Amino acid sequence: MTTPHRHIVVFGGTFDPIHHGHLRSAIELKELLGADELRLMPSHRPPLRGEPGASSQQRLTMVQAAVEGEPGLRVDDRELGRDAASYTVESLRDLRAELGEAVTLTMVVGSDAYARLQHWQQWSSLLDYAHLLVLERADYPLEAAPEVAMAMNARRVSHVADLASEPAGKFASVRLRQLPISATDIRERVACGRSIRYLLPDVVAAHIARWGLYQTK
Ligand code: ATP
Repeated sequence: MTTPHRHIVVFGGTFDPIHHGHLRSAIELKELLGADELRLMPSHRPPLRGEPGASSQQRLTMVQAAVEGEPGLRVDDRELGRDAASYTVESLRDLRAELGEAVTLTMVVGSDAYARLQHWQQWSSLLDYAHLLVLERADYPLEAAPEVAMAMNARRVSHVADLASEPAGKFASVRLRQLPISATDIRERVACGRSIRYLLPDVVAAHIARWGLYQTK
């Protein structure tokens, strides 16, 4: 019997702030893939978004606090160390160099991000380093630009479990039960003085209050 290779899953995002929608999906993805570890990877300056409401360091601290004590959930802060815009392809290239060729690496993106994948730096090279798994979100159907759809369909596997048999290079999508929580709504609630309790971990809400984040729209 061959020993199964390690399987590392990377879940990137702004996490401004991290909330229970992200965290439930992270745990369910890890279980579904039978992965050894899921790394939440906050992005420094999202090239396709405006400036986030909290600083990089504050977002990192909130993500670290949120996953503390949860086995198998880790934080990968490599993108926050960069001065320039952070590109996923560079992070995956670095991760592959660190992990070696045999480890299975899966990058998860939401279907909202997938719909804009054609604008990502070297999007077609992502599969050189990792599998791409699209998390189908309720309000965002699985749609992509024609060139992206063509490239990904050629690499598609029908079952998510099939990703584990190779280190990289495949595409899959998955629909999980999702909590209808968004960071935008949380920021707006804070700005209006409404409660954010139960939308995110108490420890994260405490940081938001202590630092006075998201007070203005
Ligand atoms: P914003 O409202 O600021 O756009 P967000 O809540 O969508 O933020 P991001 O940091 O942009 O959060 O998301 C990181 C990743 O998590 C993306 O792939 C996104 O699709 C996914 N995601 C966001 N909210 C949820 C949710 N409620 N359930 C599952 N996945 C989510």
